[in-house]
Amino acid sequence: MNKKQPVNLRSFKAKARHRKTGMRRFLSKLDRENPRGLDKKIAVLEKEVWEEIDCLTCANCCKTMTPTFNNKDLKRIAGHFNMTIPEFKKKWLKQERGGERDWINKWTPCQFLDIQTNMCSIYSIRPDDCAGFPHLSKKFKDFEHIHKQNVELCPATYRLVEKMMANGVQG
Ligand code: SF4
Ligand code: SF4
Repeated sequence: MNKKQPVNLRSFKAKARHRKTGMRRFLSKLDRENPRGLDKKIAVLEKEVWEEIDCLTCANCCKTMTPTFNNKDLKRIAGHFNMTIPEFKKKWLKQERGGERDWINKWTPCQFLDIQTNMCSIYSIRPDDCAGFPHLSKKFKDFEHIHKQNVELCPATYRLVEKMMANGVQG
């Protein structure tokens, strides 16, 4: 049986507003305590999350966030549009102010999102950052700070953390 439910972004945002502080506290504690077998437990719960969440009814990441474009992404995607990398950057990207000065989108929603269908128009060549998002299967320690941001932006991240709390993953 298909357990996937359409994402209702309005009710997700209301729930997340209410629970985000408790969830972030939980993630911080888990990060400090780093219990044994944490990544394996998360992997089991992550599978359940993807049986429930249908990203094509959401696309909140593409609507509200920007990926970072690495050099390989730039080469691949600019080439797809028969553009040079500087032309591609000038048309769609800007450089982040601080940190690594990464290349990011100038605007949200992402210029490659089809707003009618929630589909990515460059899906097969999308940035690596998009392909890996929301990074739930990565090492928890490396992505805890990302999950903390995403509990109020990504329904899949929210659902994973909710399951971690309900299933007694120690935090
Ligand atoms: S990854 Fe998260 S924010 Fe993006 S479409 Fe899926 S559930 Fe929505
Ligand atoms: S490139 Fe595609 S997957 Fe990435 S943010 Fe844009 S629309 Fe979404």
